[in-house]
Amino acid sequence: MPQVVLTLPKYKLTELKEHYRTSLKSSIPAHAAFSAKTSNCTITAYTSGKVLFQGRNPEAEADKWGDGTSRGKKEKSQSRRQHSFHPPESLFTSSHIGSDEAGTGDFFGPITVAAAYVQDHQIGQLKAIGVKDSKHLSDNQITHIAKQIVQMNIPYSLMRLNNTKYNEWQEKGWTQGKMKTLLHHQAIDKLLAKIEPHRPEGILIDQFSQPEVYQKHLRSEKKRLQDKVYFMTKAESYSLSVAVASILARSSFVKAMKQMELDTGLTIPKGASPAVDRAAAKVIKLYGEDKLREVAKFHFANREKAKKLL
Ligand code: MN
Repeated sequence: MPQVVLTLPKYKLTELKEHYRTSLKSSIPAHAAFSAKTSNCTITAYTSGKVLFQGRNPEAEADKWGDGTSRGKKEKSQSRRQHSFHPPESLFTSSHIGSDEAGTGDFFGPITVAAAYVQDHQIGQLKAIGVKDSKHLSDNQITHIAKQIVQMNIPYSLMRLNNTKYNEWQEKGWTQGKMKTLLHHQAIDKLLAKIEPHRPEGILIDQFSQPEVYQKHLRSEKKRLQDKVYFMTKAESYSLSVAVASILARSSFVKAMKQMELDTGLTIPKGASPAVDRAAAKVIKLYGEDKLREVAKFHFANREKAKKLL
């Protein structure tokens, strides 16, 4: 559902309430100052000054208020970027698919993408085993929780793009955005087939590019968006399905990195820091530069930095 968020000074809220006095709703959400409904949208004003316009045509109402202070303007231009693929609030508590990836900013290791289908009745148990935004979990915690998720028989699909393939794609001009798009798309397709005849309430992708760009990449490979696909940034903080997907993707990445350490006999750091340059230099010294095509994202600056170290 389209929405616009404005942050308004407190005195404006009084004005707003007066303006919508004939359309005020009797029930209001927690922390809200008031709520009103017009033919264009529902307006919810929070005591913080944030006002949410949500519905068919939120801008028709928001435009009346958005040009108050510069702060209001800024909030408004940011909210304008909130697209029509933003999920409805109700999706987060319903049975839906979430997808997320790992390994994109790491010189070493694959890109992994996971999609997971969490049903509404499983949300409580997942929270109980510690599922939350994977950015707040250590790699050991992630490995542990991932095992429990698998034991719960949560349906999921996992794609792992090894570095040889990644470098091939990169060298024929594909951006990471295009690679991620196809991996997410494929992970979702596989999962949809797996859970049949179940039909999820929606599919939420942790947003890494604008939905238009995602669709452009799909078209370039003669694919089209599945039904009821939504995009939002930081989706893992709102959706347990995306949180599960992010844990599964990350744990697969962590596993691949451990395997790489066994294979090379070296400590392989994650990320793209100077420690990574030093590890890359060791790989080149022991196995030759071409080895990096199998274990790393060859085009990253780390490769050149590693060569300078030698
Ligand atoms: Mn993500």
